[in-house]
Amino acid sequence: MAEYTPPLRDIKFVLSNIVDLAGLASLEGFEHSDPDTVFGALDEGGRFMAEVVAPTNAIGDKEGSVLSEDGVVVTPEAFKAVYKSYVEAGWGAVPFPPEFGGHGFPWVVGLSIQEMLAASNMAFSLNPMLTQGAIEAVLLHGSEELQAVYLEKLITAEWSGTMCLTESQAGSDLGVVRTKAMPQDDGTYRITGQKIFITWGDHDLADNVIHLVLARTPDGKPGTKGLSMFLVPKVLVNADGSLGDTNDVTVVSLEHKLGIHASPTCVLAFGDNEGSIGYLVGEEFEGMKNMFTMMNSARLSVGLQGLAISERAYQDALQYAQERKQGRAVGTEPGTNSLIIEHPDVRRMLMTQRAYIEAMRSLIYTNAEAMDVALNHPDEEARREAMELADLLTPLSKAWPTDLGVELTSLAIQVFGGMGYVEEAGVAQHYRDARIAPIYEGTNGIQAMDLVGRKLPLRGGEVVRGFIQRMADIDTELADAGEELASIRSGMKEGIAVLTDATMWLAQRGMENINDALAAATPYLRLFSTVTGGWFMARQALAAHTALNNGSAGDEYLQAKIVTARFYAEQLLPQAAGLLGAVKGGAEVLFEIEPGMLGV
Ligand SMILES: Cc1cc2nc3c(=O)[nH]c(=O)nc-3n(C[C@H](O)[C@H](O)[C@H](O)COP(=O)(O)OP(=O)(O)OC[C@H]3O[C@@H](n4cnc5c(N)ncnc54)[C@H](O)[C@@H]3O)c2cc1C
Repeated sequence: MAEYTPPLRDIKFVLSNIVDLAGLASLEGFEHSDPDTVFGALDEGGRFMAEVVAPTNAIGDKEGSVLSEDGVVVTPEAFKAVYKSYVEAGWGAVPFPPEFGGHGFPWVVGLSIQEMLAASNMAFSLNPMLTQGAIEAVLLHGSEELQAVYLEKLITAEWSGTMCLTESQAGSDLGVVRTKAMPQDDGTYRITGQKIFITWGDHDLADNVIHLVLARTPDGKPGTKGLSMFLVPKVLVNADGSLGDTNDVTVVSLEHKLGIHASPTCVLAFGDNEGSIGYLVGEEFEGMKNMFTMMNSARLSVGLQGLAISERAYQDALQYAQERKQGRAVGTEPGTNSLIIEHPDVRRMLMTQRAYIEAMRSLIYTNAEAMDVALNHPDEEARREAMELADLLTPLSKAWPTDLGVELTSLAIQVFGGMGYVEEAGVAQHYRDARIAPIYEGTNGIQAMDLVGRKLPLRGGEVVRGFIQRMADIDTELADAGEELASIRSGMKEGIAVLTDATMWLAQRGMENINDALAAATPYLRLFSTVTGGWFMARQALAAHTALNNGSAGDEYLQAKIVTARFYAEQLLPQAAGLLGAVKGGAEVLFEIEPGMLGV
């Protein structure tokens, strides 16, 4: 099994050529985020993830997290030292404000560290990811008192966080959440109810677990508008900051899952005995609204898992393809036993993984950059534009990389042949781990509906039209670059035409028949992402082309970048046109067969 090599060159290339890292460093508060400092931090982060975290991935999968007889979640033994080192090194603090002990880097820098963490050990990485969500909730919506008590410990990762939304009857539809919050005379609330599927809902790595819980107060109307957000610590915190009594949050059971075995997925009971004490976060009835303000970054972090795990599986497949001999490659002497990497079909699989990975990285990092600008730019118009871009791209960044995560880890298994299906080779774990990402944080079906129902109509369709035009404008630069990028240019022309056609059809059909628009949502999201990926690959090819002509001649990484972008344009981008039929197919055929007739 291959070790993990952090893709530092590619991460830095994207941060330098696709994301404007230097531009972010010119914003107030980010002055210390100049490329040299950031790249130094990435080198160090990469070393930590590869040397300390990555070796625990397979061990965690085998050992898993288990619930002891006395109701304590016990994590894999190897995780204890890793978590301690993670806290000591301060990796959780990268993108948070210095006044609470954070390092004050842009979100996109935090995300690049997070990519390497998730690739090293996805199950482990979910703990800091959920903590990040809790930090954001308290930072954006919590009172000063809550911030003073909880933020620093969460940012150092001495305490971890959870997001408690789901209940057995309330998954995609949170409007039917039943957990109750009863106001008390002292201003706190008593929380009672059961939450399911809570990631890292309890564990033995941190002294306290801080739950962010969606619940309904007595005056909360039915539906999402009646929900409020509460902070419920596993252990109550005394006035002097020390830990006090436990807070009546019990682990009912742990789920037995396909993958991410080391991530404890808990059924949690709140207030079965004396009642759990909760503190209101933000205003009453604004629980869902407040969740939505964190949703962009949480969805981006899950999309990132698709990218990260694809990268890890690709590295395994690439190594295996250079060790395994089978068959005779065309053009070699009779009797030759060739490496499988010499066969066109294996090359195709590897190039597919590589090209999608590079496209996904640019998409996700650009999305994060837009969030940084939206929060920190001094100019209101620049902030608004960046927010619109982040809003438009978020469903793409969540759904496309997580769908591809499943497809590309499956391809990695295919490169291994039969050994890929055997657990010992290690690549099967990536496939099992990757499968959850299209489901949680809003299923990919929900993302597609968000794209079509909420994002396309942004500013009367101007946001999507402006973005497509921006992508189309690359044509002039590609034309100037000449013959070497000619296939990228023609691929993009075709892709933009198809995307425009599909978008216009949806704009019209969405008005006429909403079911047709909803039926089109998933193929449309794929089509949109495929073309957007093509645009990012074209931009990378142009940057590599310029660098090669300006002093970096002979740089193999840059040469490979152009070839990979050509492969994307010639072999992956044309798939967008094939989706047009599915987009325009309408809902009628989906409903012609009655449910009773769908059986055997
Ligand atoms: C390992 C794991 C970890 C998780 N971690 C957390 C966590 O930390 N915190 C938390 O709160 N939750 C967590 N979840 C829950 C997760 O977010 C939900 O499973 C997810 O939102 C889907 O809800 P559901 O399982 O009830 O599926 P359902 O909502 O029942 O959906 C079933 C299918 O129907 C589709 N569907 C549903 N509604 C519609 C609609 N209106 N239109 C079209 N299609 C629709 C869905 O896309 C899906 O394909 C986790 C789940 C798992 C498995």
